[in-house]
Amino acid sequence: MLYGAQVQTSKRSFSRFDFLKSSVLNFQTFFTAQETRLHKRVILGAGLLIGAVILWPTNKELLPQRIPIDLDIESLVAQLTPATPMTNIISRADFNHEITSGDTLSGLFVQASVDQQTMYRVLEADLNVLALDTLKPGNLIKFWLDDQGELTKLELYFSAARQVVFTRFDDGSFNVDEINVEGIWRNRNLSGEIQGSFYLSAKRTGLSAAEIQRIETLLKEKLNFARDLRAGDRFSVLMNDQFIDGSSTGASDILGVTIHRGRSDITAFQNSDGNYYDDQGRSLSRAFQRIPLQSNYRISSRFNRHRHHPVTGRTSPHNGTDFATPIGTKVVAPGDGIVSLVTDHRFAGKYVVIEHGNNYRTRYLHLSKSLVHKGQRVSRGQVIALSGNTGRITGPHLHYEFHVNGRPVDPMKANIPMASKLSKKQMSEFEQLVKVRKMMMGQA
Ligand SMILES: [Zn+2]
Repeated sequence: MLYGAQVQTSKRSFSRFDFLKSSVLNFQTFFTAQETRLHKRVILGAGLLIGAVILWPTNKELLPQRIPIDLDIESLVAQLTPATPMTNIISRADFNHEITSGDTLSGLFVQASVDQQTMYRVLEADLNVLALDTLKPGNLIKFWLDDQGELTKLELYFSAARQVVFTRFDDGSFNVDEINVEGIWRNRNLSGEIQGSFYLSAKRTGLSAAEIQRIETLLKEKLNFARDLRAGDRFSVLMNDQFIDGSSTGASDILGVTIHRGRSDITAFQNSDGNYYDDQGRSLSRAFQRIPLQSNYRISSRFNRHRHHPVTGRTSPHNGTDFATPIGTKVVAPGDGIVSLVTDHRFAGKYVVIEHGNNYRTRYLHLSKSLVHKGQRVSRGQVIALSGNTGRITGPHLHYEFHVNGRPVDPMKANIPMASKLSKKQMSEFEQLVKVRKMMMGQA
């Protein structure tokens, strides 16, 4: 078990104008207590008291600039970059701010005239999403206050495709809703000829720098882009781009790449499982190991999107798997990647985030020590941290999250690349997919 504030989710979908699909995750916060309804008032009262003590700021904490927002992560995988102009957004928020480099969370709360205890309540609700730590310059933060000047709603606007909204409950705690708008996805086919570097040649077809970098990362085991290409070699790329209300969100997915080099082709196709393979069904990602530990530990809490709290009746997700690791247990990277964040959170404790490319991300909470720094390359099996009991937590454990395309999935069940080649049965389906994609790329 877990931290005092457990969080559960329920997921629903609705459609907007028949073509916009949104999935909304509802998160709610509460104290973990297993007691019956009879004890509800007592527990809530005690919880609030304890909460008040925990949340009471010390003199040191009253200083602004205490919680820096990490502002310069430029993730290496597909990201939702805000491409729609922010000025078009209608807002009646009482305080509305576009994040700039150097902003801090506590500074923003001071500017919005919201006290620090309320900020901690928001941070508590954010525990299992950790959205506040991902704000970047250009994102918006909006505060709504009531007549008494109390915060009633806080919105983080990352892009037209993603917003995170905190709303106050009667008891003063906050609910968090993660809004992911699916929009519609359209194919974009690009092809060109190598003249100069791959980067410049790809740029001429209209691919962005980030997209080119993703292609190079995807094929780095197959091709040395600096050495192996000759003038006149041809390439094609099939992209899939996200649109909301007719505007591009900047999010895109690579569906297929082929590079015709002399007599041999180098290929990459995204399979229906989300993983990339060459046209022979060989995996382009090095396999992941299932757990980020060197030996097996008891699972003390499983991934659960719909965890139900017996006292509050609210649902709230457990977005990861908890391993009952003693303090100081070595935590290893389950796959190759780049460290995108090492930070300290009042409730999540010391934590590390790794981007693995191909839309995978992993997160490790409540660590006693990080052994890596932001921007560092790590390889599968490398020790990255020591587990611990930091943050608000009832006992030492490792909370491990696995995200695919920005959303948490069950790390113990997710379809992550574990094998280097597709099975015979998977291969026959994949061959069909490759055939269709090649046709779309004009290579039938
Ligand atoms: Zn956990």
